Amino acid sequence: MNTEGDLRGILARIDSRGYKAYQDIKGGYRFEAFDLFIDHVQGDPFAAPSRVRARVSLDRAGFPPILHNKGIRKIAFVDYIARQFRRALRGVVKGQRGMGKSGLIDIDDGGQEILERNAVVLDDHWLEARFVVGLPAMGRTILGREAMDIFFREVPLLVDRALFYRNYDSSGVKGHVDAAEDQEYLRGTLPQKGLVAFIGDGAILPRRSGVDDRPLERNAIPFRYPQELEVEVELPNRGRIVGMGIPEGVTLIVGGGFHGKSTLLNAIERGVYNHIPGDGREVVITHPGAVKIRAEDGRNIEKVNISAFINNLPLGKDTVKFSTENASGSTSQAANIIEFLEMGAKVLLIDEDTSATNFMVRDERMQELVAKEKEPITPFVDKVQRLCRDLKVSTILVMGGSGDYFDVADTVIMMDGYMPGCVTQRAKEIAERHTTKRIDEGGTTFGTVTPRRPRIESFDPSKGRKEVKIDAKGLRTILYGRTAIDLSYLEQLVDRGQTRSIGLLIHYYAQHYIHEGLPLREGLERCFQDMKEKGLDMLLPYRVGNLARPRIYEVAGATNRMRTLRIH
Ligand code: ADP
Ligand code: MG
Repeated sequence: MNTEGDLRGILARIDSRGYKAYQDIKGGYRFEAFDLFIDHVQGDPFAAPSRVRARVSLDRAGFPPILHNKGIRKIAFVDYIARQFRRALRGVVKGQRGMGKSGLIDIDDGGQEILERNAVVLDDHWLEARFVVGLPAMGRTILGREAMDIFFREVPLLVDRALFYRNYDSSGVKGHVDAAEDQEYLRGTLPQKGLVAFIGDGAILPRRSGVDDRPLERNAIPFRYPQELEVEVELPNRGRIVGMGIPEGVTLIVGGGFHGKSTLLNAIERGVYNHIPGDGREVVITHPGAVKIRAEDGRNIEKVNISAFINNLPLGKDTVKFSTENASGSTSQAANIIEFLEMGAKVLLIDEDTSATNFMVRDERMQELVAKEKEPITPFVDKVQRLCRDLKVSTILVMGGSGDYFDVADTVIMMDGYMPGCVTQRAKEIAERHTTKRIDEGGTTFGTVTPRRPRIESFDPSKGRKEVKIDAKGLRTILYGRTAIDLSYLEQLVDRGQTRSIGLLIHYYAQHYIHEGLPLREGLERCFQDMKEKGLDMLLPYRVGNLARPRIYEVAGATNRMRTLRIH
């Protein structure tokens, strides 16, 4: 390893030379308090900034082991350090020091969720922050002095503030770690309590806007649980909390328009993740196997067995191995359900706002006018109980528009001015008084979910001269070789780091487990097993700090949306 003085020497030597000379600073340097690794040097001041790591020994960093001694605590701990590093940037980094990205320093610190990520990595012996630096230049001329100020003043200050416990307010980091542990714990106890979700009293559900995931600041009405659904839990750190438990089975969320139904469902969707303290959803906890289902017309579908929902298509089109490049609302919603069931999903979350009406309901009058033989779709209302009985899959459904669901609901929650009430009893009485004459079209069982085995030729990551070119564009697009994968409708994808990881995981899957002819689920499960052992770093042959762990459902969701996907 080189010394700090070596880096100083190189920067002095290459000052005012062409940008290429920056390549000379690649390498490792021992500083007084930490080791610095310059892993990748950008090609010009406008290119993606250079990748740098700063590593301190765990002994010197001085964090009490209780903060990071087990799985979830360690994840939350490094998550907090990345946020601390990010906060420190504001007071330390000068910023613009020339053209393009010159002078920039940045770290990938995530949003409202606490996710496993690799911006900060903790080993048995050291703690490492991974960040990017825009190496300063005017035109293509190196500004060596500016670079020196970055590496010898700014970076040491940042490291000092973010990687040494003595500069921490201890309650902040402890609160963060404790909160994540409580959430993880509560999620783990849901099954034994017979619950699929829990919404704690006082939770703040509404968000600032569709593009701002922070809690609504003013006039947010805190969540209050209805007596009938009261559940009390004892958390390891926070102690006793109470709230609303949503039991397994079929749950209906009803209520007038604008009364908070979708807001509640959205919070439940995100409850599969842990949230930072102050988010308002730290006490909204959902079964990890919960998936959001919606209509997604236009998507491609590759040999999915949607026969549980759709049969007798015109022209005799096969629905046991249903393929299309341009799905309708109902076929896309059916495929979304079946694909997630293939992956072992345990809870479906559905909002009428984003569903195909003809997939959800078919009333008595329509049944009389359009005979069963003429209607390919078996509506979800006739399958939802069978799904629960045959596959043990629960459903939470927002439905303000059709009382036909009263007959099949186990629990009915009514939102009234953002306040939930339990109206199961009343809904059942109404269902008895106004008995429906509609005919149950659901058949004797739910139907079959057929595992699919992807073919190797589905996955070609090459582009032009590059053998592997996989990239994420924002949160919702993956560029996989020459294919773009549109993830706009995977609503539980929350972080760009997840999007990047998904692209890489698909590649990892194609390289390691596809030749064994495993069904998609088994193949991806093996990838996740590997990732559990080796961490996110297994996804690339070099070190980056911008990956976050996705859920297996979103990886499958992305794979299923590849227009190049072919199935055996
Ligand atoms: P619905 O699905 O019942 O039509 P939404 O969930 O879309 O209603 O909510 C309507 C509006 O009310 C949204 O703008 C949302 O941000 C706001 N809102 C929802 N819950 C609350 C709450 N608890 N406090 C304040 N505003 C809320
Ligand atoms: Mg709504």
